[in-house]
Amino acid sequence: MTRKTGIVWQEIYMWHDTGTHAGVLPAGYPIQPGTHAENPETKRRFKNLLEVSGLYEQLVQIKARKATEEQILRVHVPDYINRLKELSATTGGDAGMLTPFGPGGYDIARLSAGGVIAAMDAVLAGTVDNAYALVRPPGHHAEPDMGKGFCLLANAAIAGRHALEGHGLERIAFVDWDVHHGNGTERIFWEDPRALTISIHQDRNFPPDTGDMRDIGEGAGEGFNINVPLPAGSGVGAYEAVYDRVVLPALRAYRPDLIIVPSGFDAGAHDPLGRMMMHSDGYRSLTRKLLSVADEVCAGRLVMCHEGGYNAPTVPFYGLAVMEELSGIRTDVDDPFLALFAGMAGQELQPHQDEVVRAAEQLLGQIK
Ligand SMILES: [Zn+2]
Repeated sequence: MTRKTGIVWQEIYMWHDTGTHAGVLPAGYPIQPGTHAENPETKRRFKNLLEVSGLYEQLVQIKARKATEEQILRVHVPDYINRLKELSATTGGDAGMLTPFGPGGYDIARLSAGGVIAAMDAVLAGTVDNAYALVRPPGHHAEPDMGKGFCLLANAAIAGRHALEGHGLERIAFVDWDVHHGNGTERIFWEDPRALTISIHQDRNFPPDTGDMRDIGEGAGEGFNINVPLPAGSGVGAYEAVYDRVVLPALRAYRPDLIIVPSGFDAGAHDPLGRMMMHSDGYRSLTRKLLSVADEVCAGRLVMCHEGGYNAPTVPFYGLAVMEELSGIRTDVDDPFLALFAGMAGQELQPHQDEVVRAAEQLLGQIK
């Protein structure tokens, strides 16, 4: 079955400047200057592979507009936005914690959040069946009052509030498969029962102090936050078990009007900032599962927005696999890394991972 799949991309996203760094830290003695982990390369190569595979031209191109101040202020506090504006108008700086940006960075961040909104608008208008916003900078770590973990604005959450308050949807769900915890989305909807926030991440990777399974939301939002902190070393078997036994049942119980996927590819084997073993067939399988539950509960309405993923050679093949599944169009490109990663020991669900999935299953009863 083929579907109409939208894509958001702008070259200017790649001009978001994370500056001279070494991995995630600023360079300077004793750290030799180099590149920042969050640089344009993985995303550009993802876009390039879509093009050379012939898939890009079969997607519906969606134009991003800058998120408006009204849309941004549904999530962020004015003090923080004013600080971003000031820094952006001069030298750039750090938006909070590990979040460098250059001059003009605020405008690119607005266009990044606006890209997710544009993707969502197209899905809700029925112009496309589903959409992928290949945006940068990422967003899922950004909190109302500060940037964090390379994220300036909370792209997915801003789009989520737009779905609720702009489009009048009653319930939305987030399924965050980035290897790091979706702390920003969690905090923003912590007391809000209109959003089910699910994050599947490597246990205490980043941020090191959030993402606990006991964090289930508070007040009216109690029961509507699900964290599945998988142990380092989890492979495709563990991920599939989480989706079959926790994510899909949760979505069926909650019945959202729309599903948003903060999509980082840093759970892939060989990622420098994660220690998991996902591969392209794994992402293909998870996408299929999400599409089938989206068909059941919300007429297939699915919006993905790009987050992390730092291994430049492999990320494009995860992205292509996801786009092929979303659109139902299989190109003639096979992932040359697949055999290597599929052959890694421990790809099947391991007993200590099963224990985590079993504990997460206990959270399903809290969804009303
Ligand atoms: Zn990440």
